[in-house]
Amino acid sequence: MSQPSSLSFLAVKCGRVEEIKTQEENSSKPMSHVHGIDSELLQRLVNDALIWSSLHGLLVGDKNVQRSGKVPGVGMVHAPFALLPISFPESHWRQACELAPIFNELADRVSLDGNFLQHSLSRTKKVDVFTSRLLDIHSKMLEIGKKEDIRLGLLRSDYMLDEKTKLLLQIELNTISSSFPGLSCLVSDLHRSLLNQYKEPLGLDSRRIPGNSAVSQFAEALAKAWTEYNNPRAVVMFVVQPAERNMYDQHWLSTILKERHDVTTIRKTLAEIDEQAELLPDGTLLVGGQAIAVIYFRAGYAPTDYPSESEWKARLLMEQSSAVKCPSISYHLAGTKKIQQELAKPNVLERFLENKDDIAKVRKCFSGLWSLDDSIIVKDAIEKPEFYVMKPQREGGGNNIYGDDVRKTLLRLQEERTEEDAAYILMQRIFPTITPTFLMRDGICHKDHAVSELGIYGAYLRNKDNVIMNEECGYLMRTKVSSSNEGGVAAGFAVLDSLYLA
Ligand code: ADP
Ligand code: MG
Ligand code: MG
Repeated sequence: MSQPSSLSFLAVKCGRVEEIKTQEENSSKPMSHVHGIDSELLQRLVNDALIWSSLHGLLVGDKNVQRSGKVPGVGMVHAPFALLPISFPESHWRQACELAPIFNELADRVSLDGNFLQHSLSRTKKVDVFTSRLLDIHSKMLEIGKKEDIRLGLLRSDYMLDEKTKLLLQIELNTISSSFPGLSCLVSDLHRSLLNQYKEPLGLDSRRIPGNSAVSQFAEALAKAWTEYNNPRAVVMFVVQPAERNMYDQHWLSTILKERHDVTTIRKTLAEIDEQAELLPDGTLLVGGQAIAVIYFRAGYAPTDYPSESEWKARLLMEQSSAVKCPSISYHLAGTKKIQQELAKPNVLERFLENKDDIAKVRKCFSGLWSLDDSIIVKDAIEKPEFYVMKPQREGGGNNIYGDDVRKTLLRLQEERTEEDAAYILMQRIFPTITPTFLMRDGICHKDHAVSELGIYGAYLRNKDNVIMNEECGYLMRTKVSSSNEGGVAAGFAVLDSLYLA
């Protein structure tokens, strides 16, 4: 099949780096020396990196251009990225990769336990309107006995490496709208290209950057789900926000779906779905007269995605249909912070996983997680708020509470004696290693102290008892200025990065 040149580029980049310690590589320098590179070399690297990004589609819409979130090809700017990869221990990277298929299976098992989801979130439901609406849809599906035979999860489990304990600890498991499978692959390619081009002055080995096949594996999973649905005329529908500056990340997926798998994508907002959708008696979802095989959500995870009842109607209608939902309402709920905290309680993992080794591996990456009815922890968090993060049931970055605000919020909740405490969980704060980094945003290079968060993508597809895919699917490295608490790239806190195995 003929493909655009950038796609062929993507096709050759992947493949795991299995054994990388050749003699030559052992002689390459550690990453640390690059922080002192001279300004002339830095300028050349910056310039080449910016050109590379523009030519290879490492792009987002520019917020300074009004139409950039609506019209493709208008107002593009390079995605924020780190100029060079971040050093990361190979053993921890492998540990994170190994966890991916286990978390895939765990999410699927949890999604099937309707009572566990409803019961665990029952107090949250009373005080969090958004989670309550999701739970209502879930209850309706339980009532009508809705079964999802074909289940597709495109997940991303995020980790930070705690410097003091050297433990790889999970930040969260994303089950809806796991972003950047498209752009993260490009950052790995960009870094490899720079390391090759500047081999002599940098003295780094590009083979230490692991292959990243997130976009092709996610496209493959979507294509396989489409095949399982078994209607050659049906399409994949991307549910998108009305204005989406991260559209190129999504377009990479749909382009590969078309080019490699001959599967067509349509893009619709929740409001458009409400206007154009129709449910046939056999469960087929038609949108604008077109049958939908797979619904891939890149919207619908935040309250702002539902400005009116129309959007909720659309979500319910989709859930009632026979289309494969990525994610279903159960998968969505399985990814909430409250469920993460419930899974960390003693003997809960054992309800969902049989394999003892798998359980031990998962437990090892759990940090401290508590509900606010744990009075000893709440007391400790009021005394030492810097060691905790307080999290509501939200996605997309920018929602957590840190530092002195933890103390203030906990004291307020104690005074008010309402049930609002059920909206939050408390989490142990993780402190990753701080390294000097070159961060690129809007064509400008800033040197700053930064910390990183490693996300590992996973794809899970099954049809009834047949597990069709359960794979680790590449990675997303995000690096943020260490003085910033939050980490979202789209939210403006972090840059995309890749890793240099140490
Ligand atoms: P979201 O679903 O909004 O992405 P996260 O749980 O991932 O929520 O939190 C957002 C960001 O906050 C993370 O990317 C990370 O930078 C920071 N963060 C979250 N939990 C912790 C923690 N326990 N310790 C340190 N930083 C954290
Ligand atoms: Mg999240
Ligand atoms: Mg996150």
